[in-house]
Amino acid sequence: MQGNTIAAISTPRAAGGISMIRISGDNALEIADMLFKPVSRKVKPSEMEGYTCAYGKIFSKDGEELDDCILTVFRAPRSYTGEDVVEISCHGGIFITERVLRAVYDCGAMPAGAGEFTKRAFLSGKLSLTQAEAVMDIISAEGKAFYRRAANVKEGALYKSIKACSDKLLGLLGELDAWVDYPDEDIPEVSPENMTAVLTDVLSEIRKISAGYDNTRILKSGVDTVIAGKPNVGKSTLMNLLAGEEKSIVTDIPGTTRDIVEESVRLGDIVLRLSDTAGLRETEDIVEGAGIEKARRRLETADLIIAVFDNSTPLDDDDMKLIESCKSLSGVKVIACINKSDKNSLIEKEKIEAAFENVIEISAENGDGKDKLQNVLYDIFITDSNIYNDISVNERQKQCLDNAGKCIDEALIAISSGTTLDAVNIILDEAQSYLLELTGERVSEAVVNEVFSHFCVGK
Ligand code: GDP
Repeated sequence: MQGNTIAAISTPRAAGGISMIRISGDNALEIADMLFKPVSRKVKPSEMEGYTCAYGKIFSKDGEELDDCILTVFRAPRSYTGEDVVEISCHGGIFITERVLRAVYDCGAMPAGAGEFTKRAFLSGKLSLTQAEAVMDIISAEGKAFYRRAANVKEGALYKSIKACSDKLLGLLGELDAWVDYPDEDIPEVSPENMTAVLTDVLSEIRKISAGYDNTRILKSGVDTVIAGKPNVGKSTLMNLLAGEEKSIVTDIPGTTRDIVEESVRLGDIVLRLSDTAGLRETEDIVEGAGIEKARRRLETADLIIAVFDNSTPLDDDDMKLIESCKSLSGVKVIACINKSDKNSLIEKEKIEAAFENVIEISAENGDGKDKLQNVLYDIFITDSNIYNDISVNERQKQCLDNAGKCIDEALIAISSGTTLDAVNIILDEAQSYLLELTGERVSEAVVNEVFSHFCVGK
């Protein structure tokens, strides 16, 4: 099915203790026989059992000794790809690793494409498409929360949830087919009440799973965060506190942060992609005005706004405008930060507490309250008791879920308006196709190629 034997370096291309070259395919053992001579054992790779390894020397095709190495044999189907696999672990220099790889190519292996080992694992039925995608997420995970979600998907959690929905749809489709074939029979499962109950259940499940996408995106790519507030409340100081070094110009002159400064910072498991924006206030200055306009637009597209207020002064019009702007945004989380907590308090805290769900007091200058900020971030983005947030959902999967959801929605409307069951059957069949595309059970080659094109070579 999958043709030629492929090879690639599976470890990073950098100097290190060990590098590993992986060979997979029908000729993997034959190629290993040509290159490898065991030091003590007298068995060739093709005579070795699966899950065994041997210490030996690796030679080029013309007999030049390249390195000593450990060779491990995995026999089909009990390997990562489901094919015969040989892994050669040699010294970890770029030069030596590439020479060994060249020798493997000289003996007939083809260079592996991006993600081709995992693609073969998928094609041979070792992994579902969602599990294969999770492998890539596990590799790219930078924090525990995202890793845990990806690992759950790798263990099959997403596949199982989708399979349960798809099985329910399949049951209905079977009954509908029976009804189409024998319309005079009384088949209770296709009563409008029963179909509506099953479909409502599946739809709610699909929507819950799809909702995990935002959480996944935030954990994977970071929270797009805007630090907003009028000039001089301490936005730049707060940004510098979070970033751990001076990035914005901190001065006593209002309006010195003229444009958007970007910075990525990690607070525990959460990465904030911070923009410290021009202070939001009315101004005659054209350059400052343009920066303010840009900042206002940024508020609308952010995941999180840290709205900063100055503890040492009463709220003024600019503060009130910020409060109103934040309230008018839907889907954007807001943390109100009352800064300069080290100074005498003149601010009307109760007004801020009435306007925002999350309020913290902080001193950006001396760092007090930074831990409170992290706790609130965890409450908002991680500590959600919804179990569906324990599954990572990527863009492709979300598309499939949303498309399936739309079809089911349509089917529910069709049922309630008394549309013929043949029409409902067609809509549900389409919904089912989207779910099968998600798991990879019925998926086009183009989609499979697209998924694996994002992998690294060697995985
Ligand atoms: P921005 O215009 O909002 O970016 O404000 P800056 O970060 O430039 O800060 C304005 C002034 O407030 C500077 O003199 C800072 O040193 C001072 N400042 C910022 N945060 C604090 C704080 O927590 N406590 C005190 N006492 N001063 C602060």
